Amino acid sequence: MEFKDLGLLPELERAVLEAGYTVPTPIQAATIPVALTGQDVIGCAQTGTGKTAAFCLPALARAYAASGKEAFLHTLILTPTRELAAQINESLATYGKHLDLWHAVIFGGVSDKPQIAELKRGVDILVATPGRLLDLMQRGVVRLDKVQMFVLDEADRMLDMGFIHDVKKITKVLPQNRQTLFFSATMPTAIRKLASSLVKDAKMVAVDPVSSTIEVVEQNVYFTDKDRKRDLLVHLLDNADFSRVVVFTRTKHGSDRVARHLEKAGKKVAAIHGNKAQNARTRALDGFKSGEIKVLVATDIAARGIDVDDISHVVNFELPNVPETYVHRIGRTGRAGKGGTAISLCDSEERSFLVGIERLTGKRLTVVEEHPFLPTVGRPAASANPNGSGAAYRDHGPKPFAGRGSGSGSGRKPERGPSRFGGRAAAPAGSQRSASGQRPRNGERSASSAQRSR
Ligand code: AMP
Repeated sequence: MEFKDLGLLPELERAVLEAGYTVPTPIQAATIPVALTGQDVIGCAQTGTGKTAAFCLPALARAYAASGKEAFLHTLILTPTRELAAQINESLATYGKHLDLWHAVIFGGVSDKPQIAELKRGVDILVATPGRLLDLMQRGVVRLDKVQMFVLDEADRMLDMGFIHDVKKITKVLPQNRQTLFFSATMPTAIRKLASSLVKDAKMVAVDPVSSTIEVVEQNVYFTDKDRKRDLLVHLLDNADFSRVVVFTRTKHGSDRVARHLEKAGKKVAAIHGNKAQNARTRALDGFKSGEIKVLVATDIAARGIDVDDISHVVNFELPNVPETYVHRIGRTGRAGKGGTAISLCDSEERSFLVGIERLTGKRLTVVEEHPFLPTVGRPAASANPNGSGAAYRDHGPKPFAGRGSGSGSGRKPERGPSRFGGRAAAPAGSQRSASGQRPRNGERSASSAQRSR
């Protein structure tokens, strides 16, 4: 199935293709066409399966179809943590960039003033965590009486985190004749009961948990110094087992630098990222598929379009600060139940990212203790590590993690907050909404343009 088969608006289809997605994920293929018809959905899917787009795309489509001159709160998306809320809001900005819609995010722990100001101007889609939403409802800032679509994200985590009463209070005031999309990674009895109290005639959709995809992937970490990573990478690629490798870097310049270094070392390599022309990207991918190019150095965004089998190794040249990105990256190897290896090069500044990754996956990465590029920065004195094996480094590494369901979610530190509060899912220049909440005519600019999302 392709995106064009899902029945999306052309503006949405264009935005997902621009985001680098080529084919819908299974949860998207199963959810989107159903949700677009207005039917309720119960989706059993974890983070990393593409579930955010599975609900954001129908939400944008249906909010757009219902939108008029003035914004009204059409869709409420409830999610347990501020990080998830911020990510969903960013996804709305990405997918909705060609539509004239407003969306905002509200969560606790930060000042409510800008949130209230944004809400007063009117939004079509609101992403919220339960506590802050209830607070603003009680103060009369948010009204849910016109909501036509309700999305409950990560319902099981809401339960784990003790938010279920708040959720119930919120859903009580939602209009009865709304559409509901209910998502949960697991479906224990309490969640099934909650789901059946919220949905009507829902389609059940379940996809394999991400962990089942990555269970077959061997996951190793090499502790090293930032400035030794390139040489360590060359050393690894000298091994013939590294037959088809994707190397992930955080930035476009970073991927160019790594690719140049590998080229000098005689590797068959290409870099793909957003600054490369489409034909250069296609050439690189074709070469990679045919085996002519052994190593593809990519940023996360560019890599989304890579659909190549038999990738022997994924190398995280830099660890991602969002743990779900790690899961997504390593899912490139070990496709269709086949084994593969994921290697992470971790410097001293990235240790906290490793903790977040291990918490999310519930699995510790295997530390490769013997290699020629062990860290020198913060290296224990020779006496502490007399045999030079590097075994001591684990002690400087992450603390043991707590698995999912044991409260790790609530203890997770925010990886990143929203770069800006609120946002606008509209691209046409100069068509920002005015302070009154009315959709202005083209050419008008409003004071709120400063809150336009990226
Ligand atoms: P989610 O499960 O929604 O957190 O998504 C996990 C990751 O998959 C995010 O980085 C998304 O940008 C990415 N993603 C979502 N849909 C697709 C798709 N159809 N193709 C490739 N990547 C996707």
